[in-house]
Amino acid sequence: MKKTFIMLLVLSALMGCKQSNKEINYNVDKFYDLEVLRYDVPDFDQLTLQQQSLVYYLTEAALWGRDILYDQNCRYNLAIRRTLESIYCNYPDKQNPQFALLEKYLKRVWFSNGIHHHYSEDKFLPEFTREWFAEAIKSISAADLDIILGSRAGEGADKVFAELTEVMFDPAVLAKKTNQAAGVDLLLTSANNYYGGGLTQAEAEAWYQAHKDDSAEPLWIGLNSKLVKNADGSIEERVFKVGGLYGEALEKVVYWLQKAREVAENDQQRLVIDKLIDYNLTGDLKTFNEYCIAWVRDLDSRVDFVNGFTEVYGDPLGITGAWEAMVNFKNLEATKRTTILAENAQWFEDNSPTDKQFKKENVKGVSAKVINAAILGGDCYPSTPIGINLPNANWIRKEYGSKSVTIQNITDAYDKAAEGNGFNEEFVLSKTEIEMIRQYGSLDDNCHTDLHECLGHGSGKLLDGVTKDNLKEHGSTIEEARADLFGLYYIADPKLVELGILPNKDAYKAEYYRQMMNGAMTQLVRVEEGKDLEEAHMRNRQLIANWVLDHVNPANPEVEIIEVSKPVGNPKHDVPCETKHYMRVNDYEGLRVLYGQLLAIIQRITSTGDYEAAKEIVERYAVKVNPELHREMRARYQKLNLAPYKGFVNPVYEVKTDNDGHLSQVSLNLTEGYTEQHLRYSRFYSPLPTWND
Ligand code: ZN
Repeated sequence: MKKTFIMLLVLSALMGCKQSNKEINYNVDKFYDLEVLRYDVPDFDQLTLQQQSLVYYLTEAALWGRDILYDQNCRYNLAIRRTLESIYCNYPDKQNPQFALLEKYLKRVWFSNGIHHHYSEDKFLPEFTREWFAEAIKSISAADLDIILGSRAGEGADKVFAELTEVMFDPAVLAKKTNQAAGVDLLLTSANNYYGGGLTQAEAEAWYQAHKDDSAEPLWIGLNSKLVKNADGSIEERVFKVGGLYGEALEKVVYWLQKAREVAENDQQRLVIDKLIDYNLTGDLKTFNEYCIAWVRDLDSRVDFVNGFTEVYGDPLGITGAWEAMVNFKNLEATKRTTILAENAQWFEDNSPTDKQFKKENVKGVSAKVINAAILGGDCYPSTPIGINLPNANWIRKEYGSKSVTIQNITDAYDKAAEGNGFNEEFVLSKTEIEMIRQYGSLDDNCHTDLHECLGHGSGKLLDGVTKDNLKEHGSTIEEARADLFGLYYIADPKLVELGILPNKDAYKAEYYRQMMNGAMTQLVRVEEGKDLEEAHMRNRQLIANWVLDHVNPANPEVEIIEVSKPVGNPKHDVPCETKHYMRVNDYEGLRVLYGQLLAIIQRITSTGDYEAAKEIVERYAVKVNPELHREMRARYQKLNLAPYKGFVNPVYEVKTDNDGHLSQVSLNLTEGYTEQHLRYSRFYSPLPTWND
């Protein structure tokens, strides 16, 4: 629930402020609407050998869970990935044009951890033909075939591959990964694998209701399990743990966590790892709560990590966690900035434009730091958030606080990759705004992420009796809007200049301009024509921008979308003009007032659990797109030939051991390619059976 994704479209050509490492190739691969980048891991060599060893063991634990997410995303994903990989490695005629199309499709499958677009959630189709595929299957090696058929070997290869072919090629089959559309059974219409045996939404909701924990320190029932309806109609909860569902992968995770605990930096961190090991072994949710609390309290360690079933966006009911992992260590210089914000958390809470009854009297333990990611895994790979705020359990956040991180080296990699790509020149109104973005865009972006993560999500309180579930399917959108608005309201506050975070009182304007442009206009390039917005962060950004545009002073609008007629081609000659739309901000301070008003509304909806109001505002502003604007944005964007979605390859950690088996050296290799990496992961880190039900 608490992730920030970068607005990667609006990253500008940033200059001057970052050191460039000429040896690193940041742009790795590009296909369809996707681009694969590389991130550097600065300061890794400044860690002690013990810290480097810890990072290494934790990265291994992160890589071993990769298969889990594939299976969670759709029960056919592992079978399809393995089939494609075997054909890719064994098919004799690599010059065949059909083979090139298979390669493209496979790259896409790797990027999405399955056959559905990682962002739109729609199934994408192969471009190679069924006929060629039927032929190509014959090149699969005998050993691979055994693994692919697995527990279904008895049914025969023909039947299994016929089924896979339908799943891959028929657009109507398993069309949507996570369905959020109103009025239909969300479980039966979602292609993902969080529920099984034809369990209906009503049955699942009844089960959760019956098993709900209403205690003061509730267990997050369903976080780490799959509900399956058995043939006799009974509902079984299959828990993710060693010896349970996904046990083959979790066993490996535990093995590497055990290595990691031996080189923990301190007792608190060792406690965190021990609790996580215990939780993976037992599946016990009380242990998970203890782990979360220990994790929130582990503030002194340089190295930190996430590893497990965490964010619940994938489950149509928002209960079960998708497996994810990230290993990171503190960026000491940049952390100074977030520490200042955290130290002033109460001031921000007290001065926010929300109603007093919805404010926290005591903002507890808002810790914030800037990190460098050392590895991305599961739901954080290849596409990754740029900020994380955990844990998700509200009562832990209230009692013990939360940890919030901004991932600096990922943001830097986006900036590097976006340098001079022509985006701002096309979409930003004038040179004034472009220059503003060039000068302050990167700083503003980091600053807004810090505010969103360390203060925004942690701000405000729910009234007694209200839980995060009250807003149901609109909860994520409202929560992200709340955090974004908190950041937008405060980035313009003189307090930030006073605290030394922003250099002057105008620096925030780049962020305001880009948020409005992105929310109302440019983010639409990522959505297929004819489609509405689905993803919570995109919905939240459009909600904010469109609400603002709907509430400007009509006589003297603070911000507006204007039409500009521009000549096509060289303006010196007599050429036809075309009309383009641009965002224009006329009154930045007035815009801040509007952001503040909306923040107060969104906070009230959250605090009172007002489902009807959430539904009203989301449906009115966040979901439907303006078709003409949409078409125009797509057309202009397409001319730039850019990929709207980015993901990453991981670094490779190379180790040497001494005679006692201890690591004597851990070094970083930043050269592995995209295909190489995925084939290696599939070869070495693929413990799950193909069929897990
Ligand atoms: Zn967020």
